[in-house]
Amino acid sequence: MTTPHLNLIDGRWLPGDHLTENRNPSDLSDLIGHYAAGSAADVALAAEAAARAQPGWWAAGPQARADLLDRVATAIDARATEIGTMLAREEGKILPEAIAETRRAAQIFRFFAGEALRLPGEALPSVRPGVEATVTREPVGVVGLITPWNFPIAIPAWKIAPALAFGNAVVLKPAELVPGCAHLLATILHEAGCPPGVFNLVMGPGSVVGRAMVEAPQITALSFTGSVATGRAIARAGAERMVKLQLEMGGKNPMVVLDDADLPTAVAACLNGAFFSTGQRCTASSRLIVQAGIHDAFVAELARQMQALRVGPALDPASQIGPVVSAAQLAGNLDYVALAATEGCEVIGGARLNGPTEGFFQAPALFLGATNAMRVAREEIFGPCATVIKVDDFDAALAVANDSEFGLSAGICTASLKHATAFRRGAKAGMVMVNLPTAGVDYHVPFGGTKGSSHGAREQGRHAVEFYTTVKTAYSFAG
Ligand code: NAD
Repeated sequence: MTTPHLNLIDGRWLPGDHLTENRNPSDLSDLIGHYAAGSAADVALAAEAAARAQPGWWAAGPQARADLLDRVATAIDARATEIGTMLAREEGKILPEAIAETRRAAQIFRFFAGEALRLPGEALPSVRPGVEATVTREPVGVVGLITPWNFPIAIPAWKIAPALAFGNAVVLKPAELVPGCAHLLATILHEAGCPPGVFNLVMGPGSVVGRAMVEAPQITALSFTGSVATGRAIARAGAERMVKLQLEMGGKNPMVVLDDADLPTAVAACLNGAFFSTGQRCTASSRLIVQAGIHDAFVAELARQMQALRVGPALDPASQIGPVVSAAQLAGNLDYVALAATEGCEVIGGARLNGPTEGFFQAPALFLGATNAMRVAREEIFGPCATVIKVDDFDAALAVANDSEFGLSAGICTASLKHATAFRRGAKAGMVMVNLPTAGVDYHVPFGGTKGSSHGAREQGRHAVEFYTTVKTAYSFAG
């Protein structure tokens, strides 16, 4: 038994209800560590501690908050290799991607250190003579953060940093598969001097810890990233007590390739968007909508480059694609590969692979000859699989792109300014990419989608203030 990693509640490391094993999906013999799984009682302790600590944290003022976030950013950067290695071991992202994600987390903390000093407000003349109206922002209070496994350091960072910057206290519940990164982040916050109760970590199952957070009366706002099914369940339960909600969920992101696209640019964008990070990105290009004139040349080159990708252990410098995150996720991906054939697609790749170690390795896959009505074109797979749909012209491409219950990210590869502009205007998505992969975003601009992909205010950048604060309108009459 390794030394267990505990929950952080009210500034103390507490054991929780039981311990869980964290194992490496690249090498199942690699036991990363034992991590505490909390109970509903632990959530109650954390939520009460956060409610006690929050007023003091708001009163401490923006300089104290900016300083803390800046120290956290510096510590993340200083420990980027350690955290990135943990990320690669527990989630399976190849090490360069894992370190880049870690550095992104530091950038996010640094950005919100500045935002703590720039809390916006308004002062307006009233419609009544002699009266002044001001609109100021205040923290929402205690924020519950529930995060998925696929960006185990960046997503917690982009929720924790604005929450703390704007004077809230936090209870974080990371996904069960990736407690290691969250625990390292909690350690950094603790060691950087975050006051007891201002940041709390409760690891454990969604059905216990997550559910208790949704029900905890002290938690006044919940920011969730994960699957549609869980997001909907949280929305239903959260409506009972009118908790403020922000839900970031799935995607079935279209990437349109028009006849006039630069072929190498289009292939590079689709290879990256569909398969990098093992396709386990909510913004992954999972529907490739290709115009008839370029279709055959595009598919041939994409298939060639896809089959040349080296799939292997996340820490092996030769690997370009790491493993699938878990046995359950791999089984689901393989079911979709079989389904694609049953639905009538020509399937290239997609088989389970043997690696040098026992892990969840899968060859990336293309499903050719699909229609947008097929399940493989409608359901989020969340693995290294892309469905290819042939269309006649731009109008058909845009219609297919928008024919989805999701609306997170949408891309187009074209040399035509007219079509790029029409796509940017017409795409029903929160983020639009021109000659770029659908995945890969900046941290200082809003992130989020439309339709079934997102609910509530946008994340990241200056727009994060919408969710993490509430506005107060005050009128004063000087006499
Ligand atoms: P998931 O929904 O299974 O789990 C997400 C989190 O919710 C985990 O921490 C889990 O423990 C918790 N949870 C589960 N049941 C709960 C409940 N009843 N109450 C409260 N919390 C509960 O999702 P996942 O498998 O971890 O992540 C993959 C999904 O996340 C994909 O669908 C992907 O598209 C989505 N995702 C979306 C974005 C985005 O910003 N739109 C980003 C990354 C991932």
